[in-house]
Amino acid sequence: MILSERATQVRTSASLKVTAKAEKMNMSGYNVINLGTGEVDIKTPAHITAAAVDAIEHNLPKYTAVEGIAELREAVCKKMYADRGLVYEPENVVITNGAKQALMNTIFSVVGQSDEVIISAPYWQSYVEIVLLAGGVPVIVYTRGEHGYKITAEELEKVYTDKTKAIIINSPNNPTGALCTEKELQAIADFAVEKDLIVISDEVYDKMIYSQKVKFLSIASLGEEIKKRTVIVNSPSKTYSMTPWRIGYSIADKNISKAMTRIQSHCTSNVNVVSQYAALAALKGNDECIDRLVNELKRRRDYMSQRISDIPYLRSIRPVGGLYILVNVSRLYGQEVSGITIKSGKDVAQILLSNYNVAVVSGDVFGCEDYIRLSFAASMESIIVGVNRIEKFIKQNF
Ligand code: PLP
Repeated sequence: MILSERATQVRTSASLKVTAKAEKMNMSGYNVINLGTGEVDIKTPAHITAAAVDAIEHNLPKYTAVEGIAELREAVCKKMYADRGLVYEPENVVITNGAKQALMNTIFSVVGQSDEVIISAPYWQSYVEIVLLAGGVPVIVYTRGEHGYKITAEELEKVYTDKTKAIIINSPNNPTGALCTEKELQAIADFAVEKDLIVISDEVYDKMIYSQKVKFLSIASLGEEIKKRTVIVNSPSKTYSMTPWRIGYSIADKNISKAMTRIQSHCTSNVNVVSQYAALAALKGNDECIDRLVNELKRRRDYMSQRISDIPYLRSIRPVGGLYILVNVSRLYGQEVSGITIKSGKDVAQILLSNYNVAVVSGDVFGCEDYIRLSFAASMESIIVGVNRIEKFIKQNF
């Protein structure tokens, strides 16, 4: 065996795999509509790209500090204060290659061999894979649509053992769109403080909220005790349409941040300096571009959500936040389509891609196999055509 056990066990990111497959099919002339990825089709705002060009022309230093340029870490602190009233110092911040590397750094810094990490399902796939890569044990708590896909203190209590080290939370959530209320976060915070756990709070969708009635709250805002043990993970990827720039950050206790920096110093060193200056412009700029983006995403969410709920046999909840609609397809089970007897979201995703040229992600990778996930980050034109094709699939076969 040439490969390590670790390498053979880790699964590819499903949404990246779906995108690659859709692109390959498109290159062979298929005209696939990609509702798989959470990548907004809107361009990075001009003031951000201009700062990147300026960095290349005038400003580009050599390697930067592993943890990122001081101005950017300072800007992250200012943003945390302006948005959440949270006080941090640059030593709490590490600039990373996307939120994904911030999660990797965090988990590798705090999760030891056989340590357990509580993750509520449906979850973002990488949490499970990264915990496994770090030698930890993901402990999955299955939440339900009827309960708004929220984890409760009773559920946490049930799975807690003396090996539990951390809890990962993600609000607004990928893939459910659920947003935790203050009361729900307080219950998790009380539990984490009582049991001396680390909370990893993935806040990449903090701005993607489509209702005036609710608002984002970081668990770190609920007092000094929980703030000390929370690692906030975020990135400008979604908020400023900067997914390909590969930049993100973590904010944590200084000791954890130092450990993350040591780990990062042996994998990627500093983040590409052009992206660091671009992110600096993003965080220092005003929020008008975010308002425009969120308004447009709300329009897409409203459209997609209405259309999907009008299609018989499909069940979904209109998401409050995030970029996705999770669709329960269990009412399609038992029907045979093109030689496949449908018994999971995976079967539906396969039929949609092969027969109807629509790429979606199957729920099994999020820990919910009766579902498929649709992204409304795609352009409105793609959403219209994609949903028409899903409707055609239902009309033709059920
Ligand atoms: N966290 C969640 C919940 C995500 O959905 C994603 C990307 O889809 C990430 C983190 C990674 O973000 P980035 O592109 O900044 O690495």
